[in-house]
Amino acid sequence: MKTAVQEQMPAWYFSRYGKPLEKGLVDKAYMWVHRAHRQTRRCADREFEGRGFEIVYQELSFCGIRLRAKLDLLGKQLIIDPGSEADLLCELDTLGFPLDPSPRDLILNHELFHLFCPRCPSDIAELAAHLYCAEKLNLDYFPGMLDLVEPTTKQVAV
Ligand SMILES: [Zn+2]
Repeated sequence: MKTAVQEQMPAWYFSRYGKPLEKGLVDKAYMWVHRAHRQTRRCADREFEGRGFEIVYQELSFCGIRLRAKLDLLGKQLIIDPGSEADLLCELDTLGFPLDPSPRDLILNHELFHLFCPRCPSDIAELAAHLYCAEKLNLDYFPGMLDLVEPTTKQVAV
């Protein structure tokens, strides 16, 4: 039986990249995810802290383009857009997904994967980051689905 994550993954991929999700890509993403799991045994907060990363809030969205968070590898900062947690909460609610784990946890775990990502940015890296987040937080949904929710007027305002 397919899990919700396995069911939602191809839908997310197709709507984001306009092509079917190939099995080879999924296998590779899982390989990256499992490697990242081995390097990140603690919760995301501790993992960032342990690597000398500071978590800061700073406006990242512009011209209607939503950017939830950004990793500044040189400056050792994880920058979270202050509106993104509220947006995510709305999106979780719209899709009927549980509101716990929190939007902050979703962001932190997704970005934590990118720290270990061999090839960023790429479609496989995004797939793997969402999968990593789903596994680490035991989600019964594929978090990429949240990206597909139509933005509200507030979010597209410049
Ligand atoms: Zn990402």
